[in-house]
Parts: sequence; C-alpha cells; structure tokens
Amino acid sequence: MGEPSQGDKDTLRAYRDKRRFDRTREPQGRRPEPDSPSVPSDERPRFVVQIHDARTMHFDFRLEVDGVLKSWSVPKGPSTDPHDKRLAVPTEDHPLEYREFEGVIPAGEYGGGTVIVWDHGTYRPMSHDRRKRPVPFAASLERGHATFWLDGDKLHGGYALTRFRDADTDGGGDGGGGGGRGKAAWLLVKTADGRAREDGHGTPDPRRARSVRSGRTLRQVAEHPEATWHSDRSGRGQRASGPPEG
Ligand code: MN
Repeated sequence: MGEPSQGDKDTLRAYRDKRRFDRTREPQGRRPEPDSPSVPSDERPRFVVQIHDARTMHFDFRLEVDGVLKSWSVPKGPSTDPHDKRLAVPTEDHPLEYREFEGVIPAGEYGGGTVIVWDHGTYRPMSHDRRKRPVPFAASLERGHATFWLDGDKLHGGYALTRFRDADTDGGGDGGGGGGRGKAAWLLVKTADGRAREDGHGTPDPRRARSVRSGRTLRQVAEHPEATWHSDRSGRGQRASGPPEG
C-alpha cells in the first residue's frame, strides 16, 4: 500500500508479490528497518538451508544479508567435496523469519510442496580484496564472488558463491526466442579446507534427510503438516500438536 516515504526500496516486494498469504503459511516478513543494522554487532549473521520438494526437488540456500535472506535454489544441494560445483540459481530475497519455515505450501500456490529446514547456523564473511582487506559481504555478492565460513549443524567450513552468468536484463525488444534462459547462474563450491570431505559422500539425499528443527523427513512433514510450528502466525503459543522444536 503506497506509503508516502518510499526512499527505501522494499527488497521483499518480489517475495510478497509471488505469494497469497491467505493461502500459504509462509511468513509475510517485516519490512527491514532502513537504518538499523540487521545484525547486532555481537551476533553473527545466520544462514539456513531448506529442502523444498516442489515441482522439482531442490535445496534453498539462504544467507542473512542486510536484514533479508539472500537466496539461491541449489538443485543438488551443497556438497562437502571441493570438487563438486553446485549450480545455484538466485531467487527472490526472503524475510528473516523464513529461517524457521517448515511445512507444506499448498498445491497450486507459488512453490507448492513440502519444506524442511535441513541445516541452519551462523556464517562469517571471508571476502577480501586483492590487498587482503575485508570487503563488505553485500558488496562482494554484488560483484559476483563471495566467500564465507559456515558454522551449521551439518555444514562446516569455507564455501564460495560465484556468479558465472549474469541475468539477461535486456529490457528492450524481446528476442522472441522463448529460450527463457535469462536467469543469472552461480556456483556454490566447498573451499578446500580442514572441513572438506572428498570421500564421495558429499551430497545429501533429500528424501532421507531430516530437519534440524523437528527431526522429521519431508515425508513426515507432508503427512502431518498440522504438527508444524508456524512462528509467523500471530498469537503466542499457536503451536499445533506435535513435537516441540529445539
Ligand atoms: Mn524453493
């Protein structure tokens, strides 16, 4: 709804535009406060990796940056093996509350399917310029190469996200080609460090994976979505039956 002061851009607009919140229980998200740092200086920014059994199974890799979750869809999921280059396709910024989202998005809605929180934790930006000076993380992402250290329950150590194809922002006459390959594309790669594993077991099996929040598999969440905690709903304690989260 048009508010007079629109100096700050609403980075969650695309997120909200895609969803009907009377039908999906995904969080609507608060508007990030323009001038307040999103992360208190004594806290590290957080990350989450969700598994999303939608039209196609994929992982959603999200990093907290400037009050939102920068997001990539990673079809095969992150690997612990530095030899694996995982395609990561940027998706719209998500609200911070999405970190906790686990449940079923109704069929027919955007992203319809089951979501579990596969991993979560904090990360440390590690991007440096050529003189080894730290580069602000958002700036490194804008330039298309960011390195960071993950401290999750499952994922540990250094990772790099590198853009190898820019979005086709050609707003002019459409090529009419219908190729539709206009999306930016990145690679998510494990850094060769002490937390790397090269034993060939670097790729998680999404159907057997369990949520770090509830211990449940995709199938278990799909069968009993009512047992899912929806932190976005108003009213404290609107906890449906089901296991308490950790
Ligand atoms: Mn997704």
